[in-house]
Amino acid sequence: MEKLKAEVREKGLKYHIITYGCQMNMHESEKIAGILESIGYMPADSKEDADFILFNTCCVRENAEQKTFGNVGRIKKLKQANKELLVSVCGCMMQQESAAKKLMETFPFVDIVFGTHNLYELPEMILACKSGTGRIYSAPETEELHDDVPQKRAEGPLASVNIMYGCNNFCSYCIVPYVRGRERSRSAEDVISEVSGLVSAGYREVMLLGQNVNSYDGGINFARLLGRICEETDIPRIRFMTSHPKDLSDELIEVVAAYPQICRHIHLPVQSGSSRILQEMNRKYTRETYISLVKKIRRKIPGIAVTTDIIVGFPGETEADFEDTLSLVGELRFDSAFTFVYSPRSGTRAAEMPDQVEEAVQTERIMKLVALQNKITEERNREYEGKTVEVLVEGTSTRNPGHVCGRTSTSKMVNFEGSGALIGSFVNVKITQGKKTTLFGTLAEEET
Ligand code: SF4
Repeated sequence: MEKLKAEVREKGLKYHIITYGCQMNMHESEKIAGILESIGYMPADSKEDADFILFNTCCVRENAEQKTFGNVGRIKKLKQANKELLVSVCGCMMQQESAAKKLMETFPFVDIVFGTHNLYELPEMILACKSGTGRIYSAPETEELHDDVPQKRAEGPLASVNIMYGCNNFCSYCIVPYVRGRERSRSAEDVISEVSGLVSAGYREVMLLGQNVNSYDGGINFARLLGRICEETDIPRIRFMTSHPKDLSDELIEVVAAYPQICRHIHLPVQSGSSRILQEMNRKYTRETYISLVKKIRRKIPGIAVTTDIIVGFPGETEADFEDTLSLVGELRFDSAFTFVYSPRSGTRAAEMPDQVEEAVQTERIMKLVALQNKITEERNREYEGKTVEVLVEGTSTRNPGHVCGRTSTSKMVNFEGSGALIGSFVNVKITQGKKTTLFGTLAEEET
């Protein structure tokens, strides 16, 4: 390994990571960057400037896979121009043997392919590849946790912390349990000590990540973990994602209500408003239990924002089922929703179901749903006009030089005139305009 480090440093080798998919993948790319920098690699400005290009893939939707294949294919020219260039593809898609095989057959110039469980072995894989072993494919199905790896976090006041990996739920449309394995939770002590370290390093907000944080079991349950983080660290803000409605307990609602550091936002994927479709999806709650859960959360935590995920066109979804989804959205008036057209993933139960819904019908339905949700989101955001909200400033606005942006506790993006010196500060902003994706305002006073 020392020889590899010496070579990397001597040649000034650089890496470039291209990440697809969810926040979990984004955070894993921070770990990959940390591992690469621990052996001497430096970040490249672009893939053209890199000696090691790495694709961290997602397989949750079919189009993410197609995009990966297209983008990996375009690297061929760079590889032809630079024989020393290393190319690696990793992550969820590569944890599926058939996808990994197809990728390796299609792109013989890809050097290293690995899955979701063994990124900590990356230095050994690079070493083996450079020592002439040839192409490497390694995607073991271990359930062990190897979380103690260096991390290179994105700049700014926000940090992600994995509290658990994998999923036991097997929703019938979802590939995640097959590529990320069964649930494994980190110990509460490890999580708390990571959050304390982040506070010392200047981070102001942490996002606790897990496929279903509500089933966390690291010696204590998730509600107690949140309570302990609030009691034992000075982190000003905590978010978490994702919550499965079937596991969201009264105890968790009480804890969120009790600690102001826990953000007033909950992302609670409903997926469908039809109890029949929810059963087919194996979600283990009904329309009625979901609606009463959201109402209870809003009653106990006034002002909380609730967002959701919705799938349209699940196999067998009738017009009446879809109307149930529209009426649920109309009744609960989510702050926002990620809406998806159902995409069959091979290996899942739903992919084998009869009555797959025609594309034209799916398109028509999603357009109706998006129009409804957009209207509600804009109306909800307009309710902020005239109010003063606390914002954690995250960065400068990409569209407006001289403006900065950040989020409220309710996860609303706010844009206002201000200098980059405010990044990392909590400020009060008076909202002048609420639009569909952003609130606009003016700085009300200096740091709170
Ligand atoms: S809870 Fe369901 S949708 Fe979420 S990761 Fe697990 S199986 Fe997939």
